[in-house]
Amino acid sequence: MKVKEWFPPDPLPRKPPYQDIEGIYGMSKEEMQTLFEKWVRKLRIYPAWDARLELVEDREFRKTGDIKIDCDDRKAVVLLNAVNPKQENIEEVIVHELMHLKMYPLDQTAETLIDAAFPEDSPARDFAMTQFFTTLEQTVEELAKCFLLEYGENRELSFGRCKTMKSFNDLFDGLKKLE
Ligand SMILES: [Zn+2]
Repeated sequence: MKVKEWFPPDPLPRKPPYQDIEGIYGMSKEEMQTLFEKWVRKLRIYPAWDARLELVEDREFRKTGDIKIDCDDRKAVVLLNAVNPKQENIEEVIVHELMHLKMYPLDQTAETLIDAAFPEDSPARDFAMTQFFTTLEQTVEELAKCFLLEYGENRELSFGRCKTMKSFNDLFDGLKKLE
């Protein structure tokens, strides 16, 4: 089965402001989809997982990218900011978000361990979680850089975003709901 067949026929609706996506990212949504499929294969996410790409036009979506993961069904949705992204290289963002999927078992193990070790709402738990998410983000980005520089179409790293600590909780809000 070819990769294209398991993607929805048109996962990115044709309505404003998606038509501006080329101005924002320097590529059409079709090119973005092709790039996404390339990385889903390169990182060996397909065929074990079904992954799809979605553009987010909600201005409340502060991040450039995010990923939602359903372990039971082995499905993942990568979300990309279609309005005001903070990073210039969308390929780097795609690789970064998919790398979170590769790290997910380790991620969940560490979070479960921290939950078991510290009382809820305790400063110790907050500290452990913050430290864990910081190092997780660093590791994910390090791996993303390595793959991007080796296999990327666009190997220019984004420097437009300043990472802030407060984004880590938001980043994992969608993941914590999963058992
Ligand atoms: Zn991340």
